[in-house]
Amino acid sequence: TLEGRTALITGSTSGIGLGIARLLAEAGAKVMLNGFGKPEEIAAARAEVGRLMGGGDAPYSPADMAKPAEIRAMVASCEATLGACDILVDNAGIQFVSPVEDFPEEKWDAIIAINLSSNFHAIRAALPGMRRHGWGRIINVASAHGLVASPFKAAYVAAKHGVVGLTKSVALEVAETQITCNAICPGFVRTPLAEAQVGPLAAKHGVSEEAALRDHLLAKQPSKRWVEVEEVARMALWLCGPGSGGVNGAALSIDGGWSAA
Ligand code: NAD
Repeated sequence: TLEGRTALITGSTSGIGLGIARLLAEAGAKVMLNGFGKPEEIAAARAEVGRLMGGGDAPYSPADMAKPAEIRAMVASCEATLGACDILVDNAGIQFVSPVEDFPEEKWDAIIAINLSSNFHAIRAALPGMRRHGWGRIINVASAHGLVASPFKAAYVAAKHGVVGLTKSVALEVAETQITCNAICPGFVRTPLAEAQVGPLAAKHGVSEEAALRDHLLAKQPSKRWVEVEEVARMALWLCGPGSGGVNGAALSIDGGWSAA
């Protein structure tokens, strides 16, 4: 049980972040949400996670993960609202696909800021409180692309490899405390964002959506099936629960065998 623990989860208005928020709230943690979206989607996420926490809307920060000052303010707001930030899940992320020589410079900068630097700024802001309380969990949602590459994803692959390196360095700094810092490295996870790629792929290759999914999108995932949001969330929950304290600085794959090939 996570009764008495507090958690801040970036990018938790949708997909993997929302899935982690659901399970941590269900396990008894007080959770602060963050992320973009339509007002009604944000309201629905706050209401759902709030219900799992026992009523009322879950607290929410609109901080933009591209802006260090807003990230600092988000961590301060979590500590003020919930009394602490025991668990930090750095999950917000974006993707852009292009040959490297055409890769827009502003897309490179945005992906490095949101997918990598935001983790640094949030950890930097949250770690003093964790040290004061003598316990903490930092979970960085990286990717299989934190361990291996694909073409046309230069910024994403660079950022996610960076997240794995940041994870290891922070882990060494907290190694003698009751704080751990780990990365989760999912393959393709069934989220609205990833699923939206299936239709265009089918059209591009002139095949059915089923064939596009199997032969193109999931070509690198030996299981040939999506990883489910709840599976990723269960890994995050386990990292917060009893018996996980010996796991530190790890990059935990959940990718249907992708990184084994
Ligand atoms: P998603 O698009 O469903 O969710 C992304 C979340 O990040 C949303 O809540 C969005 O509002 C938020 N976000 C985006 N930019 C932001 C910003 N500037 N400031 C604050 N919030 C911002 O995507 P997802 O698939 O759930 O991805 C979540 C994480 O998992 C990302 O880091 C992604 O790289 C990683 N990941 C996803 C997959 C996959 O197949 N879906 C695989 C490996 C890793």
